[in-house]
Amino acid sequence: MRPTFILLFAIVAALWMGCAPGPAPKRKPGEKIYIVTTTGMIADAVQHIAGDLATVDALMGPGVDPHLYKATGSDLNKLNKADLIFYNGLHLEGKMTEVLAKLGKKKPAIGLGDKLPEANLINYGTAHDPHIWFDVKLWSGTLPLIADALKAFDASNAITYTTNADNYKKELDELHAWVQQEMNTIPPDQRVLVTAHDAFEYFGKAYGIEVKGLQGISTVSEYGLKDVTNMVDLLVGRKIKAVFVESSVSDKALKAVVEGAADKGHTITIGGTLFSDAMGAADKPEGTYLGMVRYNVKTIVEALR
Ligand SMILES: [Zn+2]
Repeated sequence: MRPTFILLFAIVAALWMGCAPGPAPKRKPGEKIYIVTTTGMIADAVQHIAGDLATVDALMGPGVDPHLYKATGSDLNKLNKADLIFYNGLHLEGKMTEVLAKLGKKKPAIGLGDKLPEANLINYGTAHDPHIWFDVKLWSGTLPLIADALKAFDASNAITYTTNADNYKKELDELHAWVQQEMNTIPPDQRVLVTAHDAFEYFGKAYGIEVKGLQGISTVSEYGLKDVTNMVDLLVGRKIKAVFVESSVSDKALKAVVEGAADKGHTITIGGTLFSDAMGAADKPEGTYLGMVRYNVKTIVEALR
């Protein structure tokens, strides 16, 4: 080969290599993994397992209803920047489900509820109940899924992720036992939990309380006058003392129930506000998963006991 050909070949090769897509940008040594989650409950679990090795951002803050949530421009930036994404799945993130599925083709995006064993889920035929965090034991089943995703992304710290997941699981096991103990102090005929929407079915199933929501498993569906009338009849008939407002849902419907019962001579109080689909403010104990569950249980027990 003549030298000019060799030179030409070298130039073409160099140009081609320059245009070819390089390997995915690697993090510098010591740089944290960037993780984005939808709900605060998921962010809490992920942060416990990833510890100092990751920065975790939850898109949905206190009081935010995930069923109705739409991703903002800033959310999309975060999702695009993220190394890993964790979301609830089971269509909790109604309007965002499509965006999350699309991102899953480019990077690890794990819908935790979608990966839980079918037998452990509440199935309504057309849909699964997405509110899996209310059965503490069921929720702890998401920890190995989070740990596995982290290990696949960052194998060098696999032991840390396993240890952290085991430690957090112990805390959840203790919490589960405590919730059972507390709920057992409510007289059996008062074990009815009335809320704005059906977020507490897993809670009811796990801890032995009948659950009645005015709206279905999503806040997208509307409640009607008939739902209110039926609820009033049930509460009056069974002499239920309290109903509960949810932090992420309007209290309008429940106020109508309280008024309806009063018209029939039965006094019902609003037993308090429960954190259903979002945790409390970050600077409050309810701003953690453990604190949120404890707060809800204390509120329910005090009002119904
Ligand atoms: Zn909900």
